[in-house]
Amino acid sequence: MIKVDVSNNLHGIEQDIREACEKSGRSPEEVKLIAVTKYVTIERAKEAVENGIKDLGENRPEGLLEKKNAIGDEATWHFIGTLQSRKVKEIIDVVDYIHSLDRMSLAKEINKRASRVIDCFVQVNTSGEESKHGLEPSEVSEFIDKLVDYPNIRVAGLMTMAPNIEDETELRNYFRKLKELRDEISNRHLSHAPCMFLSMGMSNDYKIAIEEGATHIRIGTKLVGAELKR
Ligand SMILES: *Cc1c(COP(=O)(O)O)cnc(C)c1O
Repeated sequence: MIKVDVSNNLHGIEQDIREACEKSGRSPEEVKLIAVTKYVTIERAKEAVENGIKDLGENRPEGLLEKKNAIGDEATWHFIGTLQSRKVKEIIDVVDYIHSLDRMSLAKEINKRASRVIDCFVQVNTSGEESKHGLEPSEVSEFIDKLVDYPNIRVAGLMTMAPNIEDETELRNYFRKLKELRDEISNRHLSHAPCMFLSMGMSNDYKIAIEEGATHIRIGTKLVGAELKR
């Protein structure tokens, strides 16, 4: 098994963030690094927090609850995976951001179960891949308009998962598409949808995502490893 060195990985990623920001005329402070701990132990997640990472992401309710119970409010908690409506009640009181709002039935359930306003990212399928969750780009605007009926939901931004490919030009196009959509929505100054943020970029593509405007990058493997991945 490869020995994971979170501190060393973090230094490399921070360097990449600085370089990508330099290249695109952005400030590194605009980019929040979320450590995706779904494939690692509680100990490894704690190591990330000890290294100064204050944002953790999980893609299953069980994983989020387990890590949150062990680590608590020291971190900000991001739910990044497909969320079944019946599981909403399990995480609603412990989660800070939901990155995977992709349908009206889920919005309805979040609104019903929440006892405060929940910051959500609307997930968009920018690549059109069958296997990817998320709304079609053409559906996003109307979807967000309808969310006005759900006062416990605030649209903080948009999220996408790019396909696992090498082609930089193609990846760039998916990230650009998401940024265009974000700009379109934020320019409407909707009070329920400030839509300031772009959650995009993972281990394989975060540099390109930052160059294209990512404000939240979600990194698992390259930062904390994936020792429990089966
Ligand atoms: C697992 C996952 C990540 C992190 O993936 P890595 O390639 O390990 O960096 C990011 N976003 C989502 C939605 C994920 O499910």
